Amino acid sequence: MQHRIVVLGAGYTGATAAGRLAKRLHREDVAITLVNAEPDFVERVRMHQFAVGQDLAPRPFGEMFEGTGVALKQGKVTAVDVDRKTVTVAAPGGAGVGEDEVLAYDTLVYALGSGWNDQGVPGTAEHAHEIAGRPGALRLRERLAGLAAGESVVVVGGGLTGLEAVTEIAETRPDLDVALAARGGLGDWLSAKGARHLRKVVDRLGITVHEHTAVTAVEADHVTTADGASIPAAVTVWTTGFAVHPIARATTLEVTGTGQIVVDRTMRSLSHPDVYAVGDAALAMGPGDKPLRMSCASGVFTAWQAVDAIAARLTGGKVPNVPVRYYNQCISLGRKDGLIQFVTADDRAVRSALTGRLAAFYKEIICKGAAWSVAHPMVMAVRRRRVVPEAVVAEASPVRTAA
Ligand SMILES: Cc1cc2nc3c(=O)[nH]c(=O)nc-3n(C[C@H](O)[C@H](O)[C@H](O)COP(=O)(O)OP(=O)(O)OC[C@H]3O[C@@H](n4cnc5c(N)ncnc54)[C@H](O)[C@@H]3O)c2cc1C
Repeated sequence: MQHRIVVLGAGYTGATAAGRLAKRLHREDVAITLVNAEPDFVERVRMHQFAVGQDLAPRPFGEMFEGTGVALKQGKVTAVDVDRKTVTVAAPGGAGVGEDEVLAYDTLVYALGSGWNDQGVPGTAEHAHEIAGRPGALRLRERLAGLAAGESVVVVGGGLTGLEAVTEIAETRPDLDVALAARGGLGDWLSAKGARHLRKVVDRLGITVHEHTAVTAVEADHVTTADGASIPAAVTVWTTGFAVHPIARATTLEVTGTGQIVVDRTMRSLSHPDVYAVGDAALAMGPGDKPLRMSCASGVFTAWQAVDAIAARLTGGKVPNVPVRYYNQCISLGRKDGLIQFVTADDRAVRSALTGRLAAFYKEIICKGAAWSVAHPMVMAVRRRRVVPEAVVAEASPVRTAA
């Protein structure tokens, strides 16, 4: 009998995991199903580019996974029952139109990623735009296209996504009045060189920066700050971090207060040994026992780690330790400029940074490389290993403690 592996979510980490599983395990032994809401791969790291009107290359999963043996299922996951080991996928036409489908699994890889986080600030849900996924970015794209010269845009959030969004908007639409509201200082975690360059670019693009400014409410035409000031905003773009989808929290899985699945160093759920969580959906510890930040930069390593652990456990091999660490923070500052901030293994800025056109080129290569490796899962094929029946039995055994 085949061992059924269901992978939920085909973003950077889920798609990587499905492809790597297909490479690692023998086709006759496992049935791998990849479930995703959309029919093609979304380059989430380019949503700020999409929002300003750039077109992204279509990447249909059907082509990406052709010949891999991975079965694709398009649909929205609405529930996971980790005690019965089933996943519910909504009927394609929506409730009442068809039957929901229930998929049974032996091993689950949970990679549903995250969406935007409105932090509960009043007015965000009604008035703010977001770029955490394609639907939100498309809505912003249409809104920005409809703005007349001189109208105001405020990007709230001075982190990586906010910086990429505000510079992309200002570069594409120099006719707009573009501002950034950041709770801290502009790029205050960067090296001196990185922070200096960022300030130079922001000045060149004519972006007004409101530093040490917390936005406490969003209205249709302005935002209000903690000190009671008002900043005009025909469009508010909200980029204050990501929040995971509520599905895991509705299960008996052990999750954090924010709904991330708690895993050991092999990305295996601490409460349910047949569930692995990767990417934004997991709370995994990185170097220095610090939680990994939600990013592709670390997420792809977590997918590799989970797959290598699953493959080892099913084939009776030794579970490898995939190093999960950071190397750099790659920030696009429009299409012609960028900043590559080199960091320690645990993500703290070191002195060296690349800036300017070279950094923009570097960032582009990173984005292209990430999408390429997802789209070519079978390149660099490794020897497929046979599943060992005794190992499958052991896999189903009670929870193992975190290594
Ligand atoms: C504008 C922007 C720029 C970014 N830039 C960078 C960067 O430069 N570097 C970096 O490291 N990180 C960056 N990030 C963060 C990075 O995109 C995420 O951390 C990464 O995508 C997480 O990967 P994931 O596979 O966990 O989740 P995702 O990529 O979000 O994938 C989740 C998948 O699950 C699917 N899904 C979700 N819910 C359901 C459901 N209920 N049913 C079925 N399918 C579902 C989604 O459609 C999606 O395909 C950026 C993010 C944004 C928004």
